[in-house]
Formats: sequence, structure tokens, C-alpha cells
Amino acid sequence: MTRIVLLGGGVGGSMVANQLARQLKAEVLHGDVEITVINQTPDHVYQPYFLYMAFDQAVPADARRDERQVLHSQVRLVVGEADRVDRDASAVIMQDGTKIPYDFLVIATGSRPAPEQIPGLTEGGHIFYTEEGALKLRDALQNFQGGRILVTVSVPHKCPVAPLEFSMMVRDWLNQRGMESAEVLYTYPIGRLHSLEPVAEWAARVFPERNIQSQVFFNVESVDPENHTVTSLEGDTVSYDLLVAIPPHVGQTVIQRSGLGDAGGWIPTDRYSLEMVGADNIYVLGDATNLPISKAGSTAHFEADVVSANLINRIRGGKGSARYDGKVFCFIEAGADEATYIKFDYQHPPKPQPPSSMIHLYKLAFNKMYWLSAAGIL
Ligand SMILES: Cc1cc2nc3c(=O)[nH]c(=O)nc-3n(C[C@H](O)[C@H](O)[C@H](O)COP(=O)(O)OP(=O)(O)OC[C@H]3O[C@@H](n4cnc5c(N)ncnc54)[C@H](O)[C@@H]3O)c2cc1C
Repeated sequence: MTRIVLLGGGVGGSMVANQLARQLKAEVLHGDVEITVINQTPDHVYQPYFLYMAFDQAVPADARRDERQVLHSQVRLVVGEADRVDRDASAVIMQDGTKIPYDFLVIATGSRPAPEQIPGLTEGGHIFYTEEGALKLRDALQNFQGGRILVTVSVPHKCPVAPLEFSMMVRDWLNQRGMESAEVLYTYPIGRLHSLEPVAEWAARVFPERNIQSQVFFNVESVDPENHTVTSLEGDTVSYDLLVAIPPHVGQTVIQRSGLGDAGGWIPTDRYSLEMVGADNIYVLGDATNLPISKAGSTAHFEADVVSANLINRIRGGKGSARYDGKVFCFIEAGADEATYIKFDYQHPPKPQPPSSMIHLYKLAFNKMYWLSAAGIL
């Protein structure tokens, strides 16, 4: 029997598991293939809803489903925290000591914000990149009386466009509440407003039109929660009335404990085959890779197609030659009721389209249809 273990049951892990279960149905029913997902929690969490939770346009129930129900009935689910991957034993070792052996391992453990890397940030700032943080920010926005909302971005972080989306949404949110005089100030660590150049150029055009201020070359060094200031490595100090920070992200601790990652906990991954470098029975997808592409759910989705195709092909005697072309597609909310989108790959840079209310409706519709795509139906 071939044992396929998926470490992480978020976007990437669930999509691969469901595609395998559908396409290897005969092998699974015959007992030739076993598919196991290991996930820390019984819930599957769809993180894009956190952005809407901050504006009270979504609640935690919108973002959560029972992972058992998201997974195909032929996929085995183990709920618990993996302690480490033991490559010598070809097994995942759980925190309770249980060993889960694999013939093929797929790592899709995602990433996490690391506010602890910036002194004062946890005490002084709001972070909508977690459910808890989004709900706290919602409460803070409800009580906001005016002044400056400071949106600081540190890299790397997942969903590279979410800070732009938040800035444009909060601008409209303030205007709709008669707080036109409140300031929105967005800071970015390099010399432009976004790591993707065409997106940076687009933001540089629309921010002034929308009365959003910006400052570049601002690498957040520390936060002073008492005096409500943020200081950058470049030596600038900026005051805030409400701080919304996107902290730098790191790979999950299980990757570091297993010695599989680089200094940031990102796993060296072949950009085309999605195999872990130096391990032909381990695939990596989603945020966990070290690939220089957006850490986004859509990235995990397109990568899932390649990982599934390669696993199916290899199990049936092939060489697993499907290649990921770097495809990413992201909707970008551009205010309260319009959005744009970008799509790009290794060869083609993104070109933001003119925002429209239709694209905004597509984004809202996709959020609801996500559960079908996680189930492998869409
Ligand atoms: C506010 C916000 C808005 C976003 N908006 C968008 C958007 O509009 N479009 C888009 O494409 N992307 C968006 N994203 C990014 C997207 O959610 C992530 O890039 C995507 O979830 C990554 O998928 P993944 O499978 O790599 O990891 P995840 O979906 O994060 O799944 C990782 C899974 O691994 C599990 N895990 C981790 N460690 C262990 C362990 N030790 N043992 C067992 N299980 C473990 C976790 O419990 C989790 O279920 C957004 C993210 C945020 C925070």
C-alpha cells in the first residue's frame, strides 16, 4: 500500500487530499493507496474572511468549517499537532508520540505572523491576520474617534495585497462615517508601495486620489505603546491613534523543529516540480515553500493541481513531470464596493485592471464558493 500523508489541512493540504481521493478512487477503495491529512485543529479556516471581520462584514462562523466535512469521505483525518518530520524513519511524529509513516509526504503547513519580532507590537498594534486579531480590530474601529490610522507592512507576509485592501477599505469606512479628516497612512519597507512593481505603480496612482498617505523605506523596528509611536530602522518615528500592523511572517515551528527550513522556516522547494530540494518523496506547497512568489491561497490552489497530478502519475508508474508555472490570481478590494484583480506567473508580470463593482461582487461570491474549491468540486 502507498501511504500519502498531508501535513496541514488548510487550503493546499485539503485540496491535494480531495483531488487525490477523487482521482485515485479505485486505488483507495482497493486498499492500494491510503490518504491521511494531519491538521492541528478540527476546523478548516478560510483566512480571507479576517479582512471582512475587521469591518464587521463577516463573523468567525463564515470562515470556519469542520475539516472532516471539507474532506472527501475516503480521506483519513488525524487531528493534532505534528511535532516533527523524521525523514530517516519516513514518518511524522505527533506531539503525543504517535508515528504516522508515509511513502509520500506533502507539506502544507502555511505560515504565521511573528509580531514577537518587533518589540511593543503585540501591546501597541492590531493585527487582522488572525481571527482573534481581526475581532479586536473590529472593536477598536467601532470605537475609533478620529486621528491617524497607521498601516505598517513588514515582509515577508502572506496575502501581499491585503494591506492595500485594508487601507482602501478603511478609507471608505471612515468617509462613510463622516471621518473624512481622519488620516490613513500606509508604510512599506522598500522604495515603492508594494513588492510587485506594477501593483506598486497602481497603488501610487490610486492612493493620492483616495486621500491615503504613504511612506516608503519604512522598516518597522519597534512600537512604543505608551506614546503611540512606531520607529523605523531608517530612524523615522511616526505617531498613530490606531496602529494596524502586518508583522513579518515565518514558517511553522514544526518545520524548524524538523530541520527542514531556512532561517525563516521556509522549505527549499523546486519551483517547477514542487518537490522539496533533495527529497523526491516530499512535496511542498502553499505558504510553506521558499519560492519567491506570493504566499496566497490561489498559489496553494494552482500548486495543488501540480502536486496531485505528480502524485497520481507516480503512483501509476509515471515520472511525475507536471510543472508549476508560478500562476497566482488575486482579487484586490479597492474600497467599500469595488475591486480589481491581478494574475501573473513566472513569465508574466501582473497588470492590475480598472476597479469595478462587478469584480467586488465576484470576490464576495468566490469567498462563498471557496468551500466547493476546497472540496475539489470547483
Ligand atoms: C487576512 C487575510 C486575507 C487573505 N486574503 C487572501 C485572498 O484574498 N486570496 C488569497 O489567495 N489568499 C489570501 N490569504 C492568504 C491565504 O489564506 C494563505 O496564503 C493560504 O491559506 C495558504 O494556504 P496553505 O495551505 O499554505 O496554509 P494554510 O491554509 O494556512 O493551512 C495550514 C494548515 O496547517 C496546519 N498546521 C500548521 N502546523 C501544524 C502542525 N504542527 N501540525 C498539524 N497541523 C499544522 C494549520 O492548522 C492549517 O490548517 C489571506 C490571508 C489572510 C490572513
